[in-house]
This record gives sequence, structure tokens and C-alpha cells, in this order.
Amino acid sequence: MQMLKDAILERGKALNQDVLLVDSFLNHQVDVPLMKAIGEEFAKHFADKGLTRIVTIESSGIAPAAFTALAMGLPLVIMKKQTSKIMNGDLLQTTVRSFTKGTQYELTVKHEFLPAGEKILLIDDFLASGEAAFGVLNLVQQAGSEVCGVGIVIEKAFQSGHQRLADEGMGVYSLARIASMSADAITFAE
Ligand code: 5GP
Repeated sequence: MQMLKDAILERGKALNQDVLLVDSFLNHQVDVPLMKAIGEEFAKHFADKGLTRIVTIESSGIAPAAFTALAMGLPLVIMKKQTSKIMNGDLLQTTVRSFTKGTQYELTVKHEFLPAGEKILLIDDFLASGEAAFGVLNLVQQAGSEVCGVGIVIEKAFQSGHQRLADEGMGVYSLARIASMSADAITFAE
């Protein structure tokens, strides 16, 4: 997606060879017209998959997932990284290792918002090692539903996530795939 690639080249910053800072347009300051275009692109790509619900992970996936849900006319469910006292009821949980923080968190969702028999589209901001996506797959399986598509805004194609998901039979649609990066240059994969 050219508009996204331009934003990455003009406004993204590679902190090192592994981590891309996108806080000027994706997850701190948010470029809303770009998020709208991203949502419309995902909606077009996944239009004929019979999807019933969009799922994302707080907080960076919310903006692209919300615009996708709007464009597709589907409900959006945000999986939580932290539970709180007011989060009660029947909870589904699994442990996920955070790529950027190097820590673990309990990915949590209320079963009532992720019921059985749903066809789920997972939307997330980044795909790196695939840990977050596998956490979502785990919760969706616990719920008795099925992940029928994975939409990623920025995939770091030099990391293992895409292959790991492909090995599980998951088709991944990424709007920008980074082949390599350094402080001086970001190269996209085809
Ligand atoms: P994974 O679980 O695939 O290893 O990592 C995906 C999650 O880690 C994403 O939800 C995203 O929030 C975060 N992440 C992974 N790589 C990057 C990166 O290069 N930059 C930023 N800003 N977040 C990343």
C-alpha cells in the first residue's frame, strides 16, 4: 500500500535493525486519514470471507482495526493485556511474550464478546515473531471460534511470524512488508 509505505519512509524511524518507531502516525499521534485508508483496504481484501467479527490487541491495533470494522460493518473486540477488578465474568486468558518490552502479559477477553461459532479477522499493527497473533489464535480456539484471516499493517518480513502463521495454515495479508532496516534505510519486500 503506497500511502503506508510513504508514511513509513517519511515518518518512521528504525531504532535498530529490529524495531521500527511509528509513533508519529500509528500508535501515539495517529494519522486518521491513513487509518481510514488502511481500514478500507483490509475491508476490500477480506470482503468475501464471510467474516463475522474483528479482533485486535490493545492498544496499537485499535486504530486500524476500528476503521476496518467500520468499513466492513462488523463488531470489534479489543483483547486486553491487563485485567482489572471490574473485569469479571467468564474470562479467556493466555500468556503472551511481548516483542517490544521483553516481558509477558496475560492476553484476556470476556467470553461473551468472543462467543463460539464466529469467523474472526485479526487485525494488528505489527507482525514480528507472531507471539501476539498466536495468543489471539489460542483465545479464539478456546472460545470455539475460528480465525479466518490475519491483516497486518506492518510486517517485518525478516522475522519469523509470517512463516509460523503460514505453517499453521493462516493466510496473512500485510500492507507493508519490510525486508530490512537500519538507521539509514528501510527496504520493502515484494
Ligand atoms: P510479535 O508478537 O509478532 O513478535 O510482535 C507483535 C507485537 O509487538 C505488535 O502487536 C506490536 O505492538 C509490537 N511490535 C513488534 N515489532 C514492533 C516494532 O518494530 N515496532 C513497534 N512499534 N511495535 C512492534
